[in-house]
Amino acid sequence: MPRPILATIHPAALQHNLERCRRAAPDAKVWAVVKANAYGHGIERAYPGLRGADGFALLDLLEAQRVRELGWRGPVLLLEGVFEPRDLELCSRLSLWHTVHCDEQIDMLAAHKTHVPQRVFLKMNSGMNRLGFTPGQYRSAFSRLNALPQVEEISLMTHFSDADGARGIAHQVQVFNQITGDLPGERSLSNSAATLRHSQPPGGAALVSDWVRPGIVLYGSAPDHPLRTSADWELQPGMTLSSKIIATQAIDKGASVGYGSTFVADAAIRVGVVACGYADGYPRVAPTGTPVLVAGIRTRLVGRVSMDMITVDLTPLEAAGVSVGVGTEVTLWGCAGSGASLGIDQVAHAAGTLGYELMCALAARVPVQVQTQ
Ligand SMILES: *Cc1c(COP(=O)(O)O)cnc(C)c1O
Repeated sequence: MPRPILATIHPAALQHNLERCRRAAPDAKVWAVVKANAYGHGIERAYPGLRGADGFALLDLLEAQRVRELGWRGPVLLLEGVFEPRDLELCSRLSLWHTVHCDEQIDMLAAHKTHVPQRVFLKMNSGMNRLGFTPGQYRSAFSRLNALPQVEEISLMTHFSDADGARGIAHQVQVFNQITGDLPGERSLSNSAATLRHSQPPGGAALVSDWVRPGIVLYGSAPDHPLRTSADWELQPGMTLSSKIIATQAIDKGASVGYGSTFVADAAIRVGVVACGYADGYPRVAPTGTPVLVAGIRTRLVGRVSMDMITVDLTPLEAAGVSVGVGTEVTLWGCAGSGASLGIDQVAHAAGTLGYELMCALAARVPVQVQTQ
């Protein structure tokens, strides 16, 4: 028998979450962001749930190729554009749309010999200070691109630094609108957080996003956890990570559990040993108290996460009269067989990180199945 850890992808949940984005931005087209192998879910596995999108956005050319191999003939956008001149040949061959964020990319385009009209998304650095032309450089970059015979259509884009937080997006929207006001072309501004939280910015600058670019919400995480939860946003988990109890131990009062003896029992308890560790992608820094479901009942991790195992407190199960032994189901995040669920955001929060990081870090050794219903 294989080791009992298993990830399950839920295409119906991805589809539900995509529809949730559409409700938040009913007039916009939707780029389903599937970078990082669909945030760890696997592009091929996520595709059936996300094929209702208007396009797929990602940044790895090999991933773009995989989307084409799935039979997707609609738009595919490279979010970081090309990295070297020969990437443009693939853009032409596979009809990829690409972001242009720097002069070097315009130089590459100018030197690219092609009969395939190029569709580009010209990126403004409106305050994130990562990729893009500054507001002062933006219009001349537009003119330069616009004069290239290779370029068929230019869309205008920017990316928000604080759509999930207190600062918000108004300052960036204002800069973007001020510079682009009279330029032709479609606009693409909103990530997940902006799509859900700022579809009607109160009294702020008008947010026109012809194309929204949701990523994390498609996979069921709240973009602004813990301010709001995935349930508040009516999102469903795209991934379940489950395993089983492989041993139990009776711990005496005063005895410790695991490496470093970081957990010391203040009363006699039973613990379950679960086949899941940091080599599976479970965060090693998750402390005692991190939530976990055993037989669908919420309990807590105790002691350190090790490479292949974690230990969990069985007290709540005993209190509920549920017997636990080798083979009992454990849900690290996502949905339990009983219908109970544990948000990946709650586990991430306990570990001081985000749902994004946990889903992307699912280890290659974990077998993955797709739920077919
Ligand atoms: C990753 C990414 C997104 C999606 O971000 P989420 O926070 O996951 O919605 C959108 N736009 C760009 C440019 C990105 O790199």
